[in-house]
Amino acid sequence: MGVPVAGGFYKRELVADSRNMRSRCSAWIQQDGFSLVIDVGPEFRLQSISAGITQIDAVLITHEHMDHVAGIDDLRMYNYIQKDSIPLYTTPSAIESIKSRFHYLFGAGRYPGSTRVQLHAIHDPIQVGPFAITAIPAKHGELDIIGFKINDLCYLTDVKEIPEESKSLLKDVQVIILSALRWEPEHPTHLSIPDAVDLISELGIPEAYLIHMNGQTKHGPSNKRLPDHVKLAYDQQTIYL
Ligand SMILES: [Zn+2]
Ligand SMILES: [Zn+2]
Repeated sequence: MGVPVAGGFYKRELVADSRNMRSRCSAWIQQDGFSLVIDVGPEFRLQSISAGITQIDAVLITHEHMDHVAGIDDLRMYNYIQKDSIPLYTTPSAIESIKSRFHYLFGAGRYPGSTRVQLHAIHDPIQVGPFAITAIPAKHGELDIIGFKINDLCYLTDVKEIPEESKSLLKDVQVIILSALRWEPEHPTHLSIPDAVDLISELGIPEAYLIHMNGQTKHGPSNKRLPDHVKLAYDQQTIYL
């Protein structure tokens, strides 16, 4: 989630460490000249400029909440530069939501010059460029969402629960990027940090980065409390695999 929140509340105690300033969660993954983005939230334009993303070959969307899709509009510049539409892989319910919220991107009444994405529901494992991608079904409270296993990396955000069948898909994962809202109290639709650490141990994944923390979760003190193989992620962090 964005930290500090709108209005700048609680900002004073956060500004001392720039790693507490958090844009909405998103990841950019590159291999062999192929460029993939996971989730495009409301700050996607600014994030893409900071990271220097000049090419996007595919987009993966975890679920339809606005902090994960609001930046779809800003993909249009990539359509213009690449002279092509961009494939977007997500859940059936997110496809319906995107079509309804961004209705002006689709159909006969499409607004000229707006973003062009090809929407694909992802069920079975697929190959997208150099990436073997498997959707990992998860629960975000009542909402069915997906994370992604991409080669031996897993990205799972806004997760409260992972069904047993999904856990079995994560056996050979080497690095996981996993959401965790705060240390306490428990939240109905998000894992807490202790829950996330337990899940990482249960899955036996050797390296983990936590994302989607709230403004009460301070970077330095939290990292001191965490085990060595689990750390909070920060904006524009680069991980080499
Ligand atoms: Zn969400
Ligand atoms: Zn979210």
